[in-house]
Amino acid sequence: MERYDDDALVLSSVDYGESDRLVTLLTREHGKLTAFAAGARKSKRRFAGALEPFMRLRVHIVETRGSTVRLDGTDIVAGFYAAREDLSLIARALYAVELCRELTRDHEPQPELFALLESYLTRLDAKEAGPTSLLAFELSALAHAGLMPRFDSCSLCGGAPGERPRFDQAHGGAVCEPCGARARESVAVPVALLSGLRALQEGARTPLPPDLRARARGLLNVFIAHHLGRRLKSVDFMAQVGLD
Ligand SMILES: [Zn+2]
Repeated sequence: MERYDDDALVLSSVDYGESDRLVTLLTREHGKLTAFAAGARKSKRRFAGALEPFMRLRVHIVETRGSTVRLDGTDIVAGFYAAREDLSLIARALYAVELCRELTRDHEPQPELFALLESYLTRLDAKEAGPTSLLAFELSALAHAGLMPRFDSCSLCGGAPGERPRFDQAHGGAVCEPCGARARESVAVPVALLSGLRALQEGARTPLPPDLRARARGLLNVFIAHHLGRRLKSVDFMAQVGLD
């Protein structure tokens, strides 16, 4: 059995059996791992508070025969404790880790996605990441997963989206009006929304006005749910705490 250490972010964690926990980690070198933490609920000392979502850890892993690995120990590198005191920041952090969990496959190294998530959580914890930052984070995470929505040209004909653009999640983003007439699920979107989202994809950090932000949230929810085949659970939690 091989042993190794890696940097990790906790994506989610569930109780298992009488006293154990199953933890989903995004590691820097080994990608997403499901790790079995034996006795995690009995021995408070061994994993003390480390297995909560969006903890940044150094993990000690033992490979096992199946696809699940064993978690032998953890050191907390960053707890993001300031973010944990604010419901809206918790909601955004839970959304970010759930999105990363759903966009990745087990054992596929994703060092850039790891760095992106770590950086987003660090800015969230420092109260430097507002609602537009979450949209920017999502667009980058989608790009890493090969699911980048298109906003600058029609996803069907490749032409300009035009003055009356539409958005169609099934075809991958913006569509021009003539193509939109053939895309059953497409919805009309403001030109300013497409250009705002395009600017975020290109790295702009200018906050979107609240009305466009709310529309952007809606489009990304539908786009992500379509490509993952289900709606993210944390979307509802964000809505409950009044976030777009
Ligand atoms: Zn078109």
